[in-house]
Amino acid sequence: KPVLGIETSCDETGVALLRWQPDAPGRGLLAHVLYSQIKLHADYGGVVPELASRDHVRKLLPLVREALAQAGLAPADLGGVAYTAGPGLVGALLVGAAAGRALAWALGVPAIGVHHMEGHLLAPLLEDDPPAPPFVALLVSGGHSMLVEVKGIGRYRILGDTLDDAAGEAFDKTAKLMGLPYPGGPALAKLAEQGRPGAFHFSRPMTDRPGLDFSFSGLKTQVLLAWQQSDQSGQTRADVARAFEEAIVDTLVIKCRRALEATGARRLVIAGGVGANRRLRAELAAAGGREGFRTYFPRLAFCTDNGAMIALAGAIRLAHGQHQDERIQVFPRWDLESLPAA
Ligand code: ATP
Ligand code: MG
Ligand code: FE
Repeated sequence: KPVLGIETSCDETGVALLRWQPDAPGRGLLAHVLYSQIKLHADYGGVVPELASRDHVRKLLPLVREALAQAGLAPADLGGVAYTAGPGLVGALLVGAAAGRALAWALGVPAIGVHHMEGHLLAPLLEDDPPAPPFVALLVSGGHSMLVEVKGIGRYRILGDTLDDAAGEAFDKTAKLMGLPYPGGPALAKLAEQGRPGAFHFSRPMTDRPGLDFSFSGLKTQVLLAWQQSDQSGQTRADVARAFEEAIVDTLVIKCRRALEATGARRLVIAGGVGANRRLRAELAAAGGREGFRTYFPRLAFCTDNGAMIALAGAIRLAHGQHQDERIQVFPRWDLESLPAA
């Protein structure tokens, strides 16, 4: 039976319906709808948690109705509910958890709280020819930069993590310091396409020593100094953006190759918002071609937050008989390695 997926961990309200079938196209994805709060937060230059919660309250149930209509389903057709239980903003998470729990209770179906990063990690499974474990996953989003060894659903070992800024955060902050409007990451990436190669050069942080951790905050400072000392013309901004993007992408590619070597894996999954970056996708695919590993990406819409990845992760776990009691509980901080296997 179809599972309803609800995502409200940050600033997008995502809802999807999925009837989990490992061999069906799209793993049985029936519908997905998304509402982004970007405009709401733009004036403040970042996500305002209280505004985010209130907007999820406004949008969630209309989106559930819209997804059901798209799939031609009624609430009574649902076999389970999956909602993001963490990590994320506590108020935003509580909106999805309360609505998901209430719906499940009213319908008499099981519900499960999904780990947001497991959702990101499994998103490439929604595409044709999905990756099978074991694989290495590069999770690069607004709040995380991680390399994870994936031996199966819920069997995760974190190989590397960020020591300061996440990759997406570095994109956003760097964009902001060069005067680009919020959210800067995608805008900076677009600008980088007009940048000239070699006009600027920034270091590849932490690639000169062994290990799989990341650190991007120093790179941001390098960009700030270069930008302040430049003529600050439009072309210079594009040149700096290009050099910054190259530094980030290069660093990520180097660490991915190291992680594959360390684990012996031949498959690399890329997920999270920065996974939408075109240079990153192209460079990793090219490295895979040279070195004999395969790369798996979600479609662009499933790199950033969405309900489909939550419906998928929840549906797989519900299919294995996993669910939780009726308490409305969220985990703003939640260790990925603590998840049970499925
Ligand atoms: P988390 O998943 O860690 O809780 P999040 O949900 O806010 O964080 P996502 O929605 O997965 O993050 O991704 C948003 C991030 O992706 C932002 O930081 C944004 O700048 C970045 N991003 C989106 N598109 C691109 C792109 N084309 N190039 C670089 N960065 C991008
Ligand atoms: Mg977001
Ligand atoms: Fe996310």
